[in-house]
Amino acid sequence: MNMTLPPLVIFGPSGVGKGTLINRLMREFPDAFGFSVSHTTRAPRPGERDGKEYHFTTPDNFKNLISDRAFIEHAQFSGNFYGTSFQAVKDVAATGKRCILDIDAQGVQQVKQTPLQPVVVFISPPSITALSQRLRGRATDSEEAIQRRLATARREIEYARQPGIFDYVIVNDDLDRAYHKFKSIANGEMDARGDQMPLLHDWNHDL
Ligand code: ADP
Ligand code: 5GP
Repeated sequence: MNMTLPPLVIFGPSGVGKGTLINRLMREFPDAFGFSVSHTTRAPRPGERDGKEYHFTTPDNFKNLISDRAFIEHAQFSGNFYGTSFQAVKDVAATGKRCILDIDAQGVQQVKQTPLQPVVVFISPPSITALSQRLRGRATDSEEAIQRRLATARREIEYARQPGIFDYVIVNDDLDRAYHKFKSIANGEMDARGDQMPLLHDWNHDL
């Protein structure tokens, strides 16, 4: 049904709500979208299943996969390796569904150089305060990991701010509003619109 639509890359700081938006989309349209299951060396969070959210693996195995040229792109994020295998994207393509990738800014830079030619959607927090509250509210990461993710968020937002990085930006303020936009972009609707890139005034004083 979505066979002609290019892969959809979702990126944005950790804790902004990418997984929440993607899961809701996949629940509403199980036949239209397929998730590209990445490899990672980080430990599973409670509720995460191997082969569903990620292929959980060891640093040694990950390095072997790099040597075997198994990855379309890979990166180090917050002390762990993450990568999209050719196989992960092929598996979704074989189902005829639109492929969704949830990757970091380094991965976005890399896939932009490949024939994948994705539509890139940046999910922005409404503020840095909201982002740090979400990371803490999710209660899946240590305080140290949260601090690292917030520092990385600053770099990711700087990257996204450069011209030509994304096709759409969605500010995940009110979840229903953001989801409505996300859904119309993901479904390739002709009149789909993103938001304006926010200025994030509370940028410096709460990081
Ligand atoms: P990501 O996948 O980007 O790291 P998650 O989807 O895990 O982020 O969301 C992080 C936390 O923020 C979760 O606890 C989620 O329920 C919450 N969240 C997501 N979107 C919103 C929103 N619009 N408003 C408030 N909380 C949100
Ligand atoms: P988390 O540990 O919160 O699941 O993910 C941390 C970051 O890694 C997020 O920004 C997420 O988008 C990114 N990520 C997940 N999978 C991949 C991947 O395969 N490649 C890259 N480059 N980043 C990924």
